[in-house]
Parts: sequence; structure tokens; C-alpha cells
Amino acid sequence: MHIEHECPQCGAPVTLDETDTLFSCSFCKTRLFMQAPDYFRYRIPPRDPFLETVFYVPYWRFKGMHFLCKTSAIENGLVDKTFIAIEAPGLPPSLGIRPQTLKLTFAKLVDGAHYIRPAIAFDRSLAEVQNKVEYQLARTRTSRIVRISEDNYDLVPDVSLEIKEEHTYHEAFVSDTLSLIYAPFYLRDDTVHDGVTGDVLPAAAATVLNTEMIESGWTVSFVPTLCPNCGWDTISGKDSCTVFCRNCCSAWQVTEGKLSPVVFATMRSVIPHGVPSLYLPFWRVSPDITGIKLDSYADFIRFTNIPRALKPALETKPFYLWLPAFKTAPPAFLRIARQLTVNNPEATDTVMPLATVAPVNLPLKDACEGVKTLMGDLTLRKKIFFPTLPDITAGIRDASLVLVPFAENNQELVQLDMNFSLFKNTLRLGQGI
Ligand SMILES: [Zn+2]
Ligand SMILES: [Zn+2]
Repeated sequence: MHIEHECPQCGAPVTLDETDTLFSCSFCKTRLFMQAPDYFRYRIPPRDPFLETVFYVPYWRFKGMHFLCKTSAIENGLVDKTFIAIEAPGLPPSLGIRPQTLKLTFAKLVDGAHYIRPAIAFDRSLAEVQNKVEYQLARTRTSRIVRISEDNYDLVPDVSLEIKEEHTYHEAFVSDTLSLIYAPFYLRDDTVHDGVTGDVLPAAAATVLNTEMIESGWTVSFVPTLCPNCGWDTISGKDSCTVFCRNCCSAWQVTEGKLSPVVFATMRSVIPHGVPSLYLPFWRVSPDITGIKLDSYADFIRFTNIPRALKPALETKPFYLWLPAFKTAPPAFLRIARQLTVNNPEATDTVMPLATVAPVNLPLKDACEGVKTLMGDLTLRKKIFFPTLPDITAGIRDASLVLVPFAENNQELVQLDMNFSLFKNTLRLGQGI
């Protein structure tokens, strides 16, 4: 989804991606973080820009990574859905693919625009799987004995059918964002028309024009990108939620109109010949999960039953979950988290690395939505653990940001100390989430 906006300094038009957190003007070189008080509000412009009166109908838009812990496996995917935010018979219940195909703007109160107030609060259950139990017909190839004559038998192939029960024990949305999209409608000859397609809507749609309109505006606020500590320009990607200052070696997160400090550390590579070319950020989290004792790495081995020797030193080694602080394709998110959590690396120092640091674009709170799914993925006792998932809660005791070194080849990023790699395009795919 693309958004057109004017530079707050010089007025030049800038096209943003919806995932952008940084506003960067190529004309006056202004760089600012964008913040909305609750969520961003966008507007789809009507096809005819000369319409005198346009009614904007609110639609909730919900997108992110999606995980399902089911009886047979953990399923993953992406969610991108819109839901109408008012009771309005006759209007389309969702926007379909419009947000992806049209250029949007931030919603602004201008003359002739009537914004309808949302009457239905967003509820995650709208996006959740409706059937928590599914029944599937499973076919298994077998054979059976058939009598072909008085004393002669033969073996013939057969298929046996069996009904399998598939439970969804846990559903998680990670890196989910909520926004409100206003879609245009207009009245002509007493009938309501869709402002994008021009289609005539059923007569019932006219009731929407009598609903409550919004009178006061909302603003997108802009926060300077300079380091609050030393005044240098911070290093960030266009979708960063945490930024770094190389000058005074500090990290900052963009929250509620200001930059606030974040604790970070860097993992030192112990491989002498592997020169790291890129550092990927991870949230190292000390989890607090009801009913599971995870005070040490030994506790983790006992809980998951993973094939590791229970050495005495592991009884005092602290246990952490490692969650990517960058967006990736959903299968890679779990795989990378699993690699680091099982390896549980140490060797950290507080120096900012010289090599490039990939943007931190997955906030801690969002990454932690995946804690229960990750524990489910890590444990080998899935049959016992999954049915308990609805009753357990997962919180965090403390967390820090750790930069992990990776070497690079044509297609992959390779972590030499832990001996695993990931395809570069999983990071590119993640940028759109
Ligand atoms: Zn500008
Ligand atoms: Zn600084």
C-alpha cells in the first residue's frame, strides 16, 4: 500500500510505503519519524477529484504474520483483511484488494469530505479462525484379501477412510498492525455510488449518510531523528522502530512523540576468519510462562526434551528466548528463533559494530506475541503441551536487544558460530509485512 503525503518542511510530494516509520524528503533532506496517537488513518481518494460531497466510510485494516498451533502441526501465513467499521447494509463488507492497488493519503478533514465515525470497535476475533475444531477425512492405502475361487485368494489394493479431528489450540498474530482506511462514496440522483468504481449500491446503503460524522481532525505527528544524547543523526532504516547512534553508542526507540533509550549488546564472533558483513537484531527475552519452570538452560532442556546432555553448568546458565527484531517471512521467523534459542549464545559486549546493522522493525511487544508459538515449536512433547496452550499466559521478565553477526554470500546470510543460514530474500519479503 502506498501513501502520498506532503513534506511538512517544504511541501514537496513524497510517496511512502505503509510500513515506513521514517519520513524522508529527497528535496529538503528532512528526516522525521511519523507517529499516530493510536493508529494511522488513511483515505482512498475518489476516482473523480471534482466531486463536491464525498462520504468516507471507515474500514478496519488488519495485517501481520499468522501462526496456528494445531493437532498435527504449526501452520503459518500472512493475514491482510479489511472489515467495515459501521453497521451499513448495502455497503461492501470489506475493501478487497483496493488498499494494495490504489494510492492512499493520510485522512485529513477538508471541505466537502464527511468522515463517518467508526461504530464497531476492532476485535481480533474478526480475523481469527472461526472453527477451533475441524474434521478431515483421511485416506490410507491398505489392501484386503479377496476370495477369487473355491480355494484361491488374492490380495487387492484398498483405501480405508478415517475421520481425523484437528484442533486449533493456539492462534497468534505477530507484527500485526491495525489501521483505519476511509473509502469514498457519493450520492447522485438519490442513490449511493461507490467513489472508486462508480457502481450503484443498493437503496439500503443510503442510511449510512445519516450516521454520525467526525468533526475534529487527527494529526500525524513528526519526531526528530537526532540522537537525544549527543545530537548526531541516528542510523535507521525507513521502517525502523529502534534506531542507533554511532557517535555515543546508544540505541533509541520511537515512542509517544519522543526517543527513549533501549539496552543493547553485540555478540562477538569467535570465528577468526569470518568477517561479519551484517548484524541482525534480536530480542533476547527472559520469559515468564505460567506452569513452566524456565530458570536455567537445563530447565529448558527438561521441558522440551531436546537431545542435549544435561551438564551441571547448564543448571546455572540463564535461559533466554531469542526472537527476531526484524520482519521476515513467517516460516523463517520461527526457524531463526529456534536456532538462536537452542544455541543460546553468550559473548556479548556493548560496542556498536562497524558493519551495517539491519533495521529493527519488529518491536519487542510484537515479537513477544510469538512466545507461546515458539515454545510449542521448540518442545518435542507437542502432544502434551499443545492442549495446555489455551490456559497458559506468556509474559516477559526482562528483555534486551542483541546484534548478531552474519557473513554474506550471494544469496544467504550465514551465522558461522552457530552454523546456520537464511536466505536474503526472507528479509526482503518481511519488509512488506
Ligand atoms: Zn521537504
Ligand atoms: Zn548519540
